[in-house]
Amino acid sequence: MRLSQAAPEQLRELEKSLSEQYLAFQTAGLNLDLTRGKPSAEQLSLSNALDGILNGNYSDGSGTDLRNYGGLDGLPEAKQLFADMLGVQAQDILVGGNGSLPMMYFSLQTALSQGLAGKDSAWSLQGPVKFLAPVPGYDRHFTASQHLGIELIPVAMNEHGPDMDQVEALVKSDPSIKGIWCVPRFSNPTGIVYSDDVVNRMAKLGHIAGDHFRIFWDNAYAVHVLDDQAPVLANLYEACKNAGTEDSVLIFGSTSKITFAGAGVGFMAASASNLSALKDALGYSTIGPDKVNQYRHVKFLKDQATLTKHMQKHAAIMKPRFDAVLQQLKSELGDDDIASWTEPQGGYFISVDTRPGLAKQVIQLAAEAGVKLTPAGAPFPYGKDPQDSNIRIAPSFPTINDLEKATEVFITCLKLATVRQALAS
Ligand code: PLP
Repeated sequence: MRLSQAAPEQLRELEKSLSEQYLAFQTAGLNLDLTRGKPSAEQLSLSNALDGILNGNYSDGSGTDLRNYGGLDGLPEAKQLFADMLGVQAQDILVGGNGSLPMMYFSLQTALSQGLAGKDSAWSLQGPVKFLAPVPGYDRHFTASQHLGIELIPVAMNEHGPDMDQVEALVKSDPSIKGIWCVPRFSNPTGIVYSDDVVNRMAKLGHIAGDHFRIFWDNAYAVHVLDDQAPVLANLYEACKNAGTEDSVLIFGSTSKITFAGAGVGFMAASASNLSALKDALGYSTIGPDKVNQYRHVKFLKDQATLTKHMQKHAAIMKPRFDAVLQQLKSELGDDDIASWTEPQGGYFISVDTRPGLAKQVIQLAAEAGVKLTPAGAPFPYGKDPQDSNIRIAPSFPTINDLEKATEVFITCLKLATVRQALAS
């Protein structure tokens, strides 16, 4: 039965039976969590060989003592490994500490206060600073920007990426827009991959935006595919070089969800001029990164073929989890007009859209039945989902049994809230 066609009497009956199911969950004392986009212990164990891999040999290929200070921009072997992963040259790479988020924050800070193209280019000298925030997006991008006083302007996402008509119109009309946040492959939370057209239009933004505009291209899920048919992301850096806009992009990545989350390696790619400004600023805040961990990663991940095989092992663990959620959504809601959801071919999240005005309520109902979901509004600037309809599901961390149970509860809450809304209208 499609809810929109149900008679009031049918809705009342449905509400009654869903309330009974919901009460049964409430009394079952569940404690389940779908909030965390963290790798499971099983995934982390795929990289346990990192421990001890150097076997007492603390020199890299050029004889550098990995245990000592220095090597501000990373080991040459690590630059090569991550350059190949991002599709750039080793000279374009800066290898950092244990993750990419600190590098994004540091890049923001440097662009704001020191400038990425000489002192006069500091964003803070140019009045208020704004960034475009494709929504739904990654909450930490938004909170980091807000923390640094950057105003966020939401732009819509569609199945090809950010709405580029809107992006182009905004950057053309407002030179105080200094950047845009992008998660171009298996976007957090929608899982979409930016189309070639979107990537090409991104590459040209540097020509129409205000001075010192930067695309923050967070390729966090560059190699995190769930099936072999997953779309490939076009190479933004190449497109920028062709358009003569390579200074307009900063590309980020990490091994957080390849090896150990929190004990991986963060890296970034950028033009010589951007890297020079960032390295200069970095020199004031550190004497060098953890080269021991960088070299452990070089030894463990070796090359792109080894990396691909390693990611296939992740996919073998992740795919059944995604399938468990997607199959239940399809069998329980597939014939109805209650919600829509994404079916990602990679990444870490499934994004569900309820009917407008229900996300908060569904999340509240689920919490009261012992299932934690990401807070409503988190994937939006200032925590405000204007439709109150987006819910992010993170299937990686729970066991499949827990995931199935949690999804069952979630779907019951979703149906219950929707039926109640229909009855009230
Ligand atoms: N970027 C995106 C889009 C993410 O989803 C995450 C983690 O969930 C991160 C960055 C965090 O990256 P890192 O662990 O490299 O700091």
